Amino acid sequence: MISERAQSVEAAATLAMSRLAKEMQAQGIDVINLGVGESDFQTPEHIAQAAIAAIQAHQTSFYTPTSGLNALKQAIVDLMAQRYHATLGLNNVTVTTGAKLSLYALMQVLLNPGDVVVAAAPLWVSYVEQIKLAEGQLKTIVPSNAALKLTVADLAALTTPVKVIIVNSPTNPTGQVYTRDELQAILDWAAAHETYVILDEIYGQLVYNGATFTSGLQLQTLEDSRMIIVDGVSKAYAMTGWRIGWTLASSEIITAMNKLLDHMTSNPTAVAQYAAIAALTGDQSSVEVMRQAFEQRLNATFEALNTVPGLEVAVKPEGAFYLFPKVAPQVLAAAGVANTSELSMKLLKEARVAMPSGEGFGMPGYLRMGYAKDQAVLDEAVRRLTAFFQQYI
Ligand code: PLP
Repeated sequence: MISERAQSVEAAATLAMSRLAKEMQAQGIDVINLGVGESDFQTPEHIAQAAIAAIQAHQTSFYTPTSGLNALKQAIVDLMAQRYHATLGLNNVTVTTGAKLSLYALMQVLLNPGDVVVAAAPLWVSYVEQIKLAEGQLKTIVPSNAALKLTVADLAALTTPVKVIIVNSPTNPTGQVYTRDELQAILDWAAAHETYVILDEIYGQLVYNGATFTSGLQLQTLEDSRMIIVDGVSKAYAMTGWRIGWTLASSEIITAMNKLLDHMTSNPTAVAQYAAIAALTGDQSSVEVMRQAFEQRLNATFEALNTVPGLEVAVKPEGAFYLFPKVAPQVLAAAGVANTSELSMKLLKEARVAMPSGEGFGMPGYLRMGYAKDQAVLDEAVRRLTAFFQQYI
């Protein structure tokens, strides 16, 4: 019998939707897959070449340190110094198999059964299950502001002690970016309440139209604080498949994570680590090229999506690569479905557009569109959405 723990886990709604879309594509059905958070760009050539060189130099027959190659940790430390003027030691860094594993390990390291984790809804699907697996208790807050950003007023209204706050800026799925003052206020509240703050900065390099990303590293030191940063190469460098992410935290937290990771993965794949060194230390111009492309797609698709009857994105995203339109409530009844989860399945089957619904993000009533796609594909998706939704409005 499968354990109750395993049975309690929900499959990632985003991956499930994407899997289904890929199955339909394999059957020759013309599906537009806007389901999963991966860039449509290829990993830049100099990064791929570094990995090929590492294989040819036989950097593959040994375990690296669990926390990653010193050269990679140093590259991360140097980049954080350059970007944010942060002073970190190698003992403040652990490299993991994707930022996702950093987050999983952090939940295991920080949470005792019943400990409360607070995050704004909508939130990234995996936080929910990772917290559950660590036997923590997730309290989601739907912020009262239109941008759906967590505020200190929301935190002050809580009646139970909070062990961890998660802030994801830019946010998946809304694309909102926390200002320096907003972040500082949350960090100050957390410090006063001896609460850990996990800042998920995986989309930090992808901000648009003049928006400014603030890293926690610009606001607070790590060593004597409860602030933790999670980041990685997946999104900014089109390296989703390489699975390299990292945690930056006090050496106490990093040591505890490493102990756990020793028994989970040992080290992240050596070849991928060499690729990540090339990404972080090499020419950064491809990051800007991709960022500009995403910015253009956001601008075009935000306008276009808001012309689709029954869909509305109230606040324009400033970062990441998602739009999170609200579905007009009357659409559900007219389409004969009970909720947006059913609506997204109908959309996939009938309009052949894969967009996961807000349910997995703790926010029913919405759909998520990943716009890291060619503009022609996005335009066709909007045409299909328009044809689908105008039947029901
Ligand atoms: N955090 C957020 C908010 C994400 O959207 C994702 C990926 O979709 C991750 C973390 C994980 O990224 P990685 O590919 O490094 O595991």
